[in-house]
Amino acid sequence: MPITSSTDVHSLSRQLSEAYVALSKSDAVWHSSLVQALRYITQTCANVLGVERASIWQTSPDLVAMECLCLYREDSNSFEQGAVLEARSFPRYFSALALERVINASDALNDPRTREFAEPYLNPLNIKSMLDGTLRSEGVTSGVLCLEQVGQRRLWTEDEQNFVGSVADLVSQVLLFNSFRDRETRFRALFEGSGDAVFVLKGATIIECNPAALRMFRANREQLIGAKPSDLSPETQPDGATSVQRAQEHMVQALEGDDQFFEWTHRRLDNTRFAAEVTLTSVVLDGVNCIMGCVRDVSDRKQAEDALIQSQRQLAYSTSHDSLTELPNRDSLHQNAARLLAQAKKSGQKLAVILLDLNRFKDVNDTLGHRIGDFILQQVANRLTRLEQAGDAEVYRLGGDEFALLQSNVKALPRVVAQVEAIISALSKPLDVEGMSLEMGASVGVALYPENGNNSHALLRCADVAMYQAKTRGERYQFYHPSMDAHSSRRLTILADLGAAIRENQLQLHFQPRIDLATGACNGCEALLRWMHPQQGMVPPGDFIPLAEMTEIIHPLSLWVIRAALCQVRSWMDQGLEIAVAINLSARNLIDTRCPEQIQALLAEYQVPNHLLEIEITESALITDPERALQVVQSFHDLGLHLAIDDFGTGYSSMSYLKRLPIHTLKVDRSFVKDMLTDEADAVIVRSTIGLAHSFGLNVVAEGVEDEDTLQALRHLQCEQAQGYHISRPVSADEFNRWYQDRLQKNPANPNFTL
Ligand code: C2E
Ligand code: CA
Ligand code: CA
Repeated sequence: MPITSSTDVHSLSRQLSEAYVALSKSDAVWHSSLVQALRYITQTCANVLGVERASIWQTSPDLVAMECLCLYREDSNSFEQGAVLEARSFPRYFSALALERVINASDALNDPRTREFAEPYLNPLNIKSMLDGTLRSEGVTSGVLCLEQVGQRRLWTEDEQNFVGSVADLVSQVLLFNSFRDRETRFRALFEGSGDAVFVLKGATIIECNPAALRMFRANREQLIGAKPSDLSPETQPDGATSVQRAQEHMVQALEGDDQFFEWTHRRLDNTRFAAEVTLTSVVLDGVNCIMGCVRDVSDRKQAEDALIQSQRQLAYSTSHDSLTELPNRDSLHQNAARLLAQAKKSGQKLAVILLDLNRFKDVNDTLGHRIGDFILQQVANRLTRLEQAGDAEVYRLGGDEFALLQSNVKALPRVVAQVEAIISALSKPLDVEGMSLEMGASVGVALYPENGNNSHALLRCADVAMYQAKTRGERYQFYHPSMDAHSSRRLTILADLGAAIRENQLQLHFQPRIDLATGACNGCEALLRWMHPQQGMVPPGDFIPLAEMTEIIHPLSLWVIRAALCQVRSWMDQGLEIAVAINLSARNLIDTRCPEQIQALLAEYQVPNHLLEIEITESALITDPERALQVVQSFHDLGLHLAIDDFGTGYSSMSYLKRLPIHTLKVDRSFVKDMLTDEADAVIVRSTIGLAHSFGLNVVAEGVEDEDTLQALRHLQCEQAQGYHISRPVSADEFNRWYQDRLQKNPANPNFTL
């Protein structure tokens, strides 16, 4: 539509301004989707100006490229989008975009701003003239509206240039409007759909809230809008702080730009309370500083935590005390020793571990019966407890007729000797048992921190060696000396033989399958160590692993286990089976910072993917040296190994500790699972452990499942996996394979066979 006469010019000028006004008021521009709006605008421009091509492009924020949002082609009456132009290919054009409002390139092929398009674009499409209006957003170039004349050159009139400039501004507004609309819809969806209560506060008053807030506080809108945070809180928080004051402090901090995240007890309008996690962030609304508060109800998780802590407390007494004498037991000794050792280290004083074993108790028990045996043990406990009151000593019953005393704040040896003399004299006084007068007597062994060791296990072992020496030599007591080790019992033989066992292939791994309770599939197992001793026959792991853990031999032992386990996984993979293997690591492995790289090397050697190796650690293993253990555990996690907490529920670790660990799985200890159908306390622990684990996003494996009813109960509690004699005992690799194939045969149709 070339322009020829002046009357045409006037009517065209009017046409253009009418077209612009129509466009700027059009529903198609403001009330349809962005795609529709841009199509309408480009098509209108092409028609009004009589050009063949009209397009809208959006530049990237740094102006390095632009993308075509919509191109209208008059010849085919169609739309295209998606083409991208890069600034480095068209530098002159891009700098013109940044500087000019309208690029009037009547002679596009020769115009310095557009001639870089000649080769790739103008010539092939036979484009002669271009008229571009730049889009702006907050004063910065954000894109371009581009009109292209095909076939013959065209001089753009001033009106046409103004028209393009105005429409470009209109497009800028449309884009901005749509981005707001997008953000608004997205924000609305978040706000309305969030399960968390969201509030907007101006001053200390709620001015907006979402539907979840109404549900959470059991209120209607009228009750919440205008309310204050203190209306939704009890007067005081659990730690005694006044809610109003504490809330005020958090809000002030949030307004200063310091986002707040804290635990809070809330009160609903019906006066019930719930535990929550609250986040406060400052936001600017209509130029006013406001606070956006987000409240998450965590009462389910808190309840599970409380139930677990409660039952752990009850359990703690029964697992930490001996029921016959009411004395704390061996576990408590280790636990308390850790505290006393830390004190001794600080004060530079000694700690004595005094171990005693009654003489002839076995004879008395065998000849006079258990009732009298028990009575004697109670009397011994009473006498020892009296010594406890005399000073810095704590008495423990280790089991059988073994007792121990921890003597702290020891400056010099005579103090310990005096205590030992006191023990011996207390026990040598005859006991009055049903008219008989029995003389018991005891053998005593003593070990000292720091001379004989720096942990309770090592000290107890030394005291035991010394006690044994005293007994065999008929002396009343002995202080430990390293030379005694040469004489000590079977346990030392075992330790000595263990080195040979590793070298000479006396060790074996057994595998215990673990099944998925939802599907019945077996995709993992636990590797358990077995030792065929040439003289002593099968030595159970409980008899040699604790010994190995006292020395460095645990390192080669664990490496042997990992190697053997990976070798087995490799063999399964070669048969086309993907079965993960879990191995047990000891406290000493966890403080060995070389451990992760050694494991990585073995994984590479056997070409086993990292996720097929799982590591089981006990809570107590983490307590020995938490900092270092945490570091090693973190490296395992970084390697992509799967981590499980073993024997969960028997340790003493706190919940907050668990939250910090990168673990995937909790293994509920078999002592709880075994009786969960008959013992309510055990059932509570299993239930709350599962609930708690789930609230942290962890899987649960139940150990020690010995019958079908327990298995069903666990499935009902949504426990993910189970392991135990009912499914299979730990067996050799050959037997494992037979067991696996057998299950497969029973359910040939379904490779993920169910029970
Ligand atoms: P754990 O890690 O708790 O291993 C599970 C133990 O429970 C195994 O005893 C297994 O035979 C037994 N068990 C499995 N299902 C049932 C069941 O249904 N009922 C009953 N009553 N027991 C069941 P095991 O093989 O004697 O191992 C004892 C402990 O020795 C293990 O306890 C673990 O702490 C340690 N251990 C075994 N192998 C290794 C190893 O390679 N390295 C380390 N560091 N420790 C190991
Ligand atoms: Ca285990
Ligand atoms: Ca276990």
